[in-house]
Amino acid sequence: MNYLRTYDIKFLKGVGPKRAELLKKELGITSGYDLVRHYPTHYLDRSKIYTIRELSDDMPYVQLRGRFVSFNTIGEGAKMRLVGLFSDGSATLEVVWFRRIKAIRDSLNTGVEYILFGKPSSYMGIKQMSHPEIDTPSSVAAMHPVRGVYPLTERLRNANISSRSFATWISTLLASRPNIADPLPRSVIADNRLMPLRQALNEIHNPTDPEQLRLAKLRLKFDELIYIQADMLRRANRRKSQSLGHRLTRVGEIFNRFYRECLPFDLTDAQKRVIKEIRADVNTGRQMNRLVQGDVGSGKTLVALMSMLLAVDNGLQTCLMAPTEILATQHFETISSMVAPLGLKVDLLTGSTPSRHRREIHEGLADGSLSILIGTHAVIEDTVQFKKLGMVVIDEQHRFGVAQRAKLWNKNDIPPHVLVMTATPIPRTLAMTVYGDLDVSVIDQLPPGRKPVETLLRYDEQRQQVYRAVFGQLRLGRQIYIVYPLIEENEKLDLRSLQEGYEIVRQTFKDYKVAFVHGRMKPAEKDYQMGLFASHQADILVATTVIEVGVNVPNASVMIIENAERFGLSQLHQLRGRVGRGADQSYCILMSKYKIAATTRKRLELMTQTSDGFIIAEADMQMRGPGDIEGTMQSGIPFDLHIANLASDGQIIQLARNAAEKLLDSDPTLSAPENNLFARELAAASRGNQDWSKIS
Ligand code: ADP
Ligand code: MG
Repeated sequence: MNYLRTYDIKFLKGVGPKRAELLKKELGITSGYDLVRHYPTHYLDRSKIYTIRELSDDMPYVQLRGRFVSFNTIGEGAKMRLVGLFSDGSATLEVVWFRRIKAIRDSLNTGVEYILFGKPSSYMGIKQMSHPEIDTPSSVAAMHPVRGVYPLTERLRNANISSRSFATWISTLLASRPNIADPLPRSVIADNRLMPLRQALNEIHNPTDPEQLRLAKLRLKFDELIYIQADMLRRANRRKSQSLGHRLTRVGEIFNRFYRECLPFDLTDAQKRVIKEIRADVNTGRQMNRLVQGDVGSGKTLVALMSMLLAVDNGLQTCLMAPTEILATQHFETISSMVAPLGLKVDLLTGSTPSRHRREIHEGLADGSLSILIGTHAVIEDTVQFKKLGMVVIDEQHRFGVAQRAKLWNKNDIPPHVLVMTATPIPRTLAMTVYGDLDVSVIDQLPPGRKPVETLLRYDEQRQQVYRAVFGQLRLGRQIYIVYPLIEENEKLDLRSLQEGYEIVRQTFKDYKVAFVHGRMKPAEKDYQMGLFASHQADILVATTVIEVGVNVPNASVMIIENAERFGLSQLHQLRGRVGRGADQSYCILMSKYKIAATTRKRLELMTQTSDGFIIAEADMQMRGPGDIEGTMQSGIPFDLHIANLASDGQIIQLARNAAEKLLDSDPTLSAPENNLFARELAAASRGNQDWSKIS
């Protein structure tokens, strides 16, 4: 495969330097390797011919068979277009060209039978097709019966590069390279009964039958995934065998005093177990990299704090990084008040920390007097230098995968111990990929006395009834969250409905104080409003999903989610986790339109039936499609994926993981001759590989 990597596509017949430049710009395709990995998104059966009469706008690309009745040029200058009237006996269709008008007109005749291939549309009730591919019936009969449809961009289309161009180039390239070396070791191919690479490439571009195509996809997905898994495992192995870590041997004064004097409750057994696991890790002389998973409210903050105190006891500094300013502030407040009796220096650094305060923080970090720094991404900026950073806690940041964690290495000679906290229950195989180099602990127990949140689905028509229930809770002294969706695409509209919602809530609950917060506010204003609610100066908080993660107000007993039909399941689960944190019965009310799609209703009903984060995560992925989750996760790994899907290819991830384990067990450094090509591919596949020297 390697020499396809070095094959410059500008030398390929039909490409040339200009198009090569465009392909690079538009799709990042530069080598023969990139080109054969530009896979079809779907396939068309060339034997299927539609009639014009049955066409509708929502159809994808189709084939028609018929004759041109007439051609007319309409308009002038830049607006000029060629319109051909095309008939197949069932109806007529306008075929429109905006470019290359003369050449096209010269190449076509009326009365001759053609096969058109294009995307149907309609304009003022008239059926149309623009810039179709045009063939004669005999040439179509000679073609491969199934054709791949390749992703294109507008610029490529304008340059007259079509799906067929890709098909042709790829066929030419594959035909000229009968022996593509297969980088997977033979044992891996045999164990997993994989299709040989060459055959898989042929099959995916020119499928012969559905079963063969399935096997080809499996093979190509497996390829992508085994590199990720091998990379993750190698990182983990190296870390365990080589990389130094601070040895935190001492459980000292600070940890013990905190345990005896500051802890307002007993730890749950799960918390104790996880702390034990962490203590074992940090005592090995190797760097700890551990993921702590625990559902919302399971008490991860405390586990993080106690781990940090362990580091402080051993003369090291620590930092905790949260995804938002609000959450960082809240962590700062909780932690600084909990450790107040210990006399430790704790500080908060965010994007809005004034420069004078920032300088103070830098000084404290440099002279070692600042023990615990809490903040947003601001804490990993290069200007932030610690004297002796011993532990980093990363809270609820799902984009913070292996690629971002690597940055932390630059902070000190001996890498800090890393603890990643997440409440988002991601499916196991996905975690294996994004957090595949981490050891995992699970807090599978909630603190005692929590009552499960009662979740209800209510329609807009029942709003008055819902408000009556809210009044009941307010009179008991409880607090209420009301959450509105805020989605990028129609942000303006959403902001308006949020504002309107806020007004209605204020008028409805006149005797109560209402706080108001959304992501577009200035941080100071946001903090002020959040503060009102956290300190119970406000009874109701109207907000967007900025409160999704981590915010902790145990007295809040009702979470109303407006337009719940617009939220994903995992998001609803996170939001619901904001209530049910105290001893009182709490409620989550999902407000929705009555008329919603059946799948949406199913999603909302599932929320009323279960509070198990893992069930919800799995269902979310199946219902919503993996796109979202995958996009977020992809940024955490240093590999590009063309065909494998982190969210939906769980089974293949597992296969690839097993194969990578077996391979590295038998040849940890991948230096056996039969693994040579695999090692080279692994190095080449990892994006920005040079920057990784620090880790590996
Ligand atoms: P999460 O895991 O969602 O980050 P938090 O750490 O915010 O959860 O904890 C949720 C709430 O539970 C906090 O108010 C915290 O003080 C409380 N808590 C944590 N551990 C315990 C415990 N062992 N017993 C009682 N309450 C606890
Ligand atoms: Mg938390």
